[in-house]
Amino acid sequence: MIIGAHVSIAKGLYKAAVTAKGIGANTFQFFTRNPRGGKAKELNQDDIEKAHDYMRANSFGKIVAHAPYTYNLASAKVNIREFTIATLKDDVFRIKAMGISYLVLHVGTCGEQGEEKGLSLVIQGLQEVLSLIPDGTEILLEQMAGEGTELGYTFEQLAKIIEGCEYHSQLGICLDSCHMTGAGYDLSNFGLIKKGFDEKIGWERLKAFHLNDSLFPRGARRDRHAKLGEGHIGLATIKNIVTDSDMREIPLILETPNDNVGYAKEITLVKAML
Ligand code: FE
Ligand code: FE
Ligand code: ZN
Repeated sequence: MIIGAHVSIAKGLYKAAVTAKGIGANTFQFFTRNPRGGKAKELNQDDIEKAHDYMRANSFGKIVAHAPYTYNLASAKVNIREFTIATLKDDVFRIKAMGISYLVLHVGTCGEQGEEKGLSLVIQGLQEVLSLIPDGTEILLEQMAGEGTELGYTFEQLAKIIEGCEYHSQLGICLDSCHMTGAGYDLSNFGLIKKGFDEKIGWERLKAFHLNDSLFPRGARRDRHAKLGEGHIGLATIKNIVTDSDMREIPLILETPNDNVGYAKEITLVKAML
């Protein structure tokens, strides 16, 4: 099982890896830059090498970078789209330099433009970034809860984007159990969910999974994360997900409302489900 949590890399990649190990994790997620956007920190080659030596020695799985929430490829505002594309380009080279494979991206919100227009803008923006994405990196579209005008909350929409990007091999998916619940997917039958994902998108595109409980019930189109077992998903369903043999290599990332002590407890809880 590859499991971790969202941690800070304010003190560098090595310290983040040590923090992750300290909470019982063998992967972690971090923001490429401040979650509200803004300038990224200077990279330190020694720190990166030290981090990778440490992660190798401790049998870490793949690490996941997450783009800031301010990015919006579907914005009606051209300056926001241009900012997003430019910073995404910077981010894919940045994770390449850091030796990280995955960059999770929220699909975007379309506002009053409507879903079709929004999706076509997302495709255009992604095509531009994918045209120069370095080898060994992938953009993972995160399935959203469908709150407000969020795009990418159905497998069909995600499939449409992938099709629009000509099935680019460096475009994958990150699922989020809280978002899936909000969007109306019934995780209690994980086999059926997997089947639907495989038919519409292809299982091989799934590269990361955000493991969160949901404060709101299924289909509420709300995105509020809860601690595992303290929401509408529940521990029995979470156990079904994490013990599924097809999930063995997929990084499971906790984004539950916890500090590191709380994350350590949840990681222990999840590991005990195996
Ligand atoms: Fe996210
Ligand atoms: Fe998430
Ligand atoms: Zn969320």
